[in-house]
Amino acid sequence: MREIVIVGGSVAAVTAADALRQFGHDGPITVLSAESHAPYVRPPLSKAVLKGAEEPESVRIAGAGEHWTLRLDAPARGLDRQRKRVLLGDDEEVPYDGLVIATGARARRLLPDGSEHVVRDLDDSLRLRERIGDARSMLVIGGGFLGMEIASSARDLGLEVTVVDMIPHLERQFGPYLAAHMTAAAAARGVRLVVEPGGIEFLDARPLAGVRAASGAVYEADIVVSAVGDLPNVEWLAGAGLDLPTGIETDARCRVAPDIVAIGDVAAVLDARTGQARRSPHWGAAIDQARVAAGALLLGDAAEEYASRPYFWTDQWGLDMKICGAIGTARPEFLEGSLEDGQALIRFRDDAGPVAAVSVNRRVPIPRLRKLAAGLA
Ligand code: FAD
Repeated sequence: MREIVIVGGSVAAVTAADALRQFGHDGPITVLSAESHAPYVRPPLSKAVLKGAEEPESVRIAGAGEHWTLRLDAPARGLDRQRKRVLLGDDEEVPYDGLVIATGARARRLLPDGSEHVVRDLDDSLRLRERIGDARSMLVIGGGFLGMEIASSARDLGLEVTVVDMIPHLERQFGPYLAAHMTAAAAARGVRLVVEPGGIEFLDARPLAGVRAASGAVYEADIVVSAVGDLPNVEWLAGAGLDLPTGIETDARCRVAPDIVAIGDVAAVLDARTGQARRSPHWGAAIDQARVAAGALLLGDAAEEYASRPYFWTDQWGLDMKICGAIGTARPEFLEGSLEDGQALIRFRDDAGPVAAVSVNRRVPIPRLRKLAAGLA
């Protein structure tokens, strides 16, 4: 395999390019990114960047493009699998021997005219940050971890904040026990959390001024942000039959075909441990999959398989949390500290044993958290 083309411009793409070099590939590697910005780290966009504590230069991924070619403003518009060509605009085609699809996801919008704010890329975050500068209130639609991070940042900047969801905030990711603690911390900071099971519709006014819930309640604010999930960027693959709305399904080595791999937020990679293929839209999964995929392109069946190691982190309401495993409705067991003290190491168990481990405002090495979650420590 000589010429490897990577489509995408973020952590999955950059990690795959670096891994290919580390594994000894000495042929050309070209990364085609739709962005005009050099690759950057996305998690601070809802936290430090939004609050003005980080700038675009400080969230750049260091070293991107040093050992391979990076083309910005180069969105792929199609794929010809038979001729092994990525199609760009102006009839330009980029030939490949091996292809990495790493086009990630975009924010799901509730309004077709795009008039609500979202936070998915650097420009979204900078635009919202500027808008926050002259606003007094924010309404966030969606109380998952992203919506609550945006709400926490806005509250830190002095805005009145309301977060509306159809189900109790944060429960899906953190389970009822931790979600109750986190929402109490949000409420203690003066944030209004509203559950509207019947859903909402936007008020007609432009610029957007708020929503009306099925219950009849109206929630108004200077800024309206939606944080209601993401959609994989697969449309450019329609001609190649890979435009699956639930993500590109791969085998356990991230392969769609011997010469094509898909990784990161765009991919539903088969997990060798669980036997399931579904998207894992988290930073750590994108990195793990990129390394597996680089191995698969170079070594084929001799490469290692992907086994998910669920891990993510969040920072909101003064709670810096790292989570390994899936908490669900498992019971907490405090190993160190307590939530009342403001710092803790917690293991969660269900009837079959440990299922997750969480650190709260406490430095715990990720490998230790992983072991605790797996019941190995
Ligand atoms: P993406 O980061 O989505 O990047 C895809 C890239 O492909 C983009 O640069 C895009 O412009 C480019 N692209 C799209 N279409 C094309 C095309 N046709 N041609 C060329 N290029 C294209 N995860 C955590 O674990 N912890 C967190 O705290 C956390 N916080 C987050 C906060 C925010 C605001 C966001 C948005 C995400 C957060 N995540 C977090 C998730 C994490 O950032 C993603 O899982 C990760 O960025 C996925 O990387 P990726 O490279 O697969 O996709």
